[in-house]
Amino acid sequence: MADAATTVGSVVRPTIAAAGPGTSPASQPTLVSGDDDRTVVVLLGPPGAGKGTQGEHLAAALGIPKVATGDVLRAAVRDGTTLGREAQAYMDRGDLVPDAVILGIMKDALTQPSTARGAILDGVVRTVPQAEGLQAVLDHLGRVTTIVLVFVIEDDVLVRRISERTVCDSCQTPYTGHHTGDPCPKCGGRLVRRTDDEPQAVRQRLVVYHAQTAPVITWYKTHGVRVVSIDAIGTRDEVQVRVLRAFSR
Ligand code: ADP
Ligand code: ZN
Repeated sequence: MADAATTVGSVVRPTIAAAGPGTSPASQPTLVSGDDDRTVVVLLGPPGAGKGTQGEHLAAALGIPKVATGDVLRAAVRDGTTLGREAQAYMDRGDLVPDAVILGIMKDALTQPSTARGAILDGVVRTVPQAEGLQAVLDHLGRVTTIVLVFVIEDDVLVRRISERTVCDSCQTPYTGHHTGDPCPKCGGRLVRRTDDEPQAVRQRLVVYHAQTAPVITWYKTHGVRVVSIDAIGTRDEVQVRVLRAFSR
């Protein structure tokens, strides 16, 4: 049983195997990202569905980096760059930043040496033109989208989750069950609410998701990419098991 690691090329990379029902992620035999050494995973799902948390774990399990456009844009806003100044108003309202901006970030991320062996794309694709743009970038690099994971969860659960969410203003770790102003358990920074986690922006993000991002799911299906729905309701560990199972063969 592959409980340690599979060597792919010159790197040791974890393997993922199916977990039986009720298996805890810690004791679970590991998973296989596939024979393809250049796994590109697209995470789709509404705001608050847990893509970030699960993407982080999956990145560690597969040994490839996670790219989150939301993180890239927030860092740009914090640093006051041109990109940040262009994106901020859209983000604060809960709207999507223009496709051209995202395509630039996408191209940049995928041509870095760090993503040469694959990447988990978290929230990177939110419109059909972005899916087409990603495909063009990957075509150019001689790569393909390996799998699309769709996190499925009802709007009212999301609204509740997001209303309980705070984030460290220093290390950006998200938390639930803490209050704004509390110190970050990880780094001592201050916990704040993201501007786009205010109720009005959350409602707008959900509207945008259903109108602009949901069609991306159909787009991938009609383009022959494997699309797996993940039930995103449950504990972090329960969802994690479902995510890993999507990679088992
Ligand atoms: P969430 O997925 O929870 O809405 P993110 O942190 O992933 O939050 O993204 C925050 C914001 O960044 C989005 O609401 C949007 O304004 C902007 N953004 C991130 N990725 C994209 C994208 N692919 N296309 C357009 N806008 C994006
Ligand atoms: Zn912190």
